Amino acid sequence: MNSLTKDTKLTIFYILIAFAFSVAMRMVWVYQFSGYAQFMHNGQFMINTNDGYFWAEGARDILAGFHQENDSSSILTAPAKLTAFFATVLPFSFESIIFYMSAFLSSLIVVPIILIAKNLKNLEMGLIAALLASIAWSYYNRTMVGYYDTDMLNIVLPMFLLWSIIWAINTNEDKYLLITAIDILVYRWWYPQSYSLEFSFFGLILLYTLIFDRKNLYNYKLLAIMMFAMMNLSGLVRLPIVLGVFYVLKQPRYDRYIYYIFGISLVAFFISGGFNPIWGQLKGYVFTTSVSSADSGLKLHFFSVMQTIREAGHIPFETFANRISGHTITFLLSLVGYAWLCYKHRIMIFALPMVGLGFLAYVGGLRFTIYAVPVMAMGVAFLITESTRYITDKKSIRYLSYVVFTLAILFPNYKHIEAYRVPTVFNANEVKVLEKLKSKAQREDYVISWWDYGYPIRYYADVKTLSDGGKHSGSVNFPVSFILTHPQQESVKLARLDVEYTEKAFKIQKQNEELNESKKIKLFTNIEEMTKDYGFRDTNDFLLSLQMDMKLPKKTRDIYLYLPHRMLEIYPTIVIFSNLDLMNGSKKSNPFYYVSKNFKETKDSINLGSGVVFSKNNSTIKIRNQVVKLRRIVQTYYDKKMVLHSKVQKLNNNAPLSLIYMSAFKTFLLVDEATYNSLYVQLMVLENYNKNLFEKVIVSPYAKVYKLKI
Ligand code: MG
Repeated sequence: MNSLTKDTKLTIFYILIAFAFSVAMRMVWVYQFSGYAQFMHNGQFMINTNDGYFWAEGARDILAGFHQENDSSSILTAPAKLTAFFATVLPFSFESIIFYMSAFLSSLIVVPIILIAKNLKNLEMGLIAALLASIAWSYYNRTMVGYYDTDMLNIVLPMFLLWSIIWAINTNEDKYLLITAIDILVYRWWYPQSYSLEFSFFGLILLYTLIFDRKNLYNYKLLAIMMFAMMNLSGLVRLPIVLGVFYVLKQPRYDRYIYYIFGISLVAFFISGGFNPIWGQLKGYVFTTSVSSADSGLKLHFFSVMQTIREAGHIPFETFANRISGHTITFLLSLVGYAWLCYKHRIMIFALPMVGLGFLAYVGGLRFTIYAVPVMAMGVAFLITESTRYITDKKSIRYLSYVVFTLAILFPNYKHIEAYRVPTVFNANEVKVLEKLKSKAQREDYVISWWDYGYPIRYYADVKTLSDGGKHSGSVNFPVSFILTHPQQESVKLARLDVEYTEKAFKIQKQNEELNESKKIKLFTNIEEMTKDYGFRDTNDFLLSLQMDMKLPKKTRDIYLYLPHRMLEIYPTIVIFSNLDLMNGSKKSNPFYYVSKNFKETKDSINLGSGVVFSKNNSTIKIRNQVVKLRRIVQTYYDKKMVLHSKVQKLNNNAPLSLIYMSAFKTFLLVDEATYNSLYVQLMVLENYNKNLFEKVIVSPYAKVYKLKI
């Protein structure tokens, strides 16, 4: 340690402080929920992001050494590989690793921030910025404990890239050429969508070179090696190319060829298709219609999932500012500070791509805000350290004001952390059901459920699913929605059909890989293939035929239905996907569906909220001012052996609505006849299943599993 300069020692000290602070703040959640058994599994907290189960499944399969064909396991992805690596070398349980990984990796954000500040000879600014950035609202939300997703390194890696670009431009040292290229390789490996940010950095350096520093050969070396690192080729191909290019660039005798090398890098980038993903992404952001239609065949119209994801949409300015800095005032001061920072240190203009991507959130959706967090934090930190310099020369007063101002900008973010008590994706009761299912089902069997539960089902039960967090287009969701919301007779047939057609499609895709373009078999959506195979030209006719006897495809595996109680809340969303005419895209009228957990009971009525009141005297429902008769009233309850019973009171055979009271959950459900007869309500809420079609496999109040008999 003695050989280190004072500056280096202080840098390391600040990094350690900021890192410890970042991790400690993430332990607030752990402290808040310590001992809460419903959030725990195998003695550890469960994760709180749905997508995390995608990486967890892949890591589990890598460690096991096998997986099933066409199971969508993420074994080839970087997060799964890194997790499996940690699980192999670290002495912690798999559950602990996936739960804490985000807290530790995301806290590395403090390293590039403080290193950049070191370059600007303002280490205190680095420390203040690191403290703020590591816990700022949106960065915290997406990197807290249990937020096991790519976000844990998605900001850390481009910040390291920014750091190496800044040092490269400032020092013109050869080693930063290699560090920049390696960082691009790692960033792309971790997050394949990283090209847009890499490309923005490249564009900015090119602009800077052409305007301010045209004669400096080093800039062209940096640009060339970045281009080679960014080619649209496998990382295993790019790594040796980058190393070879670095070997050449390092030697002054090749300097006279630098313009040729730069030219070759540009050509190589374009020929390898480096620009294609950027172009594709630009096009992909243009979503205008809610119903999409396939380009040939029956031209079916499906409902687009984009409509139901709230993330993509306008956000108020205050939310935007809070998510970047924790408070509107901090955000505005950050803007001033960043402008001042760029004026004093022109090099900080290279941070603009991160700011720009972050500000895209204002129009493009919340998830982008995290990109602006570290740079904006540097802005306000610069303002704090610089403005105090003008006020006083006394070191003690300056340091005291650092502390006061830092605490002030941290405070709103701490308050946010304290209040942000997100639950785990599943609770222990649900996981218990899935683990039991794992012991009964084969790995090749299918479990049908809504796509939200796809990844966790695959992780805990090791089975296959029709849909998940990455596979939920309108055409994939249509059959699943239909199965959950239609009567058992029809649903069971479509379930068998969709599973067999999904597997058949995998087989055809595999055959197609070996065929010439002209011989490839054209594949349409499952529902379209079924319609045509059963001799119909109109999908509505085919769906009607499900009510009649029909010959089903050969059964290749078992099919289970996973029906969690929590699906009650999203039933209206599920219905939308199959409640339309696929031939012309027109939506059918919404079914009546109302859930009430907050109700007030008086002597002669029960107020279910939202203007819905049940009258005890004449057993009618008043919806706002309209009195509606009830067809039946059902009350369900569990006995001591946890067996479900239901008392049905038949009232009026022509009435439209039924009222169900689930006493175990103190929940009322008011539904129309179609919803009452849906598979979900019959099998999950009432356990009223057709014994010729289904076998009851696992029942608990929280989730029920049935197996198809056909
Ligand atoms: Mg599997």
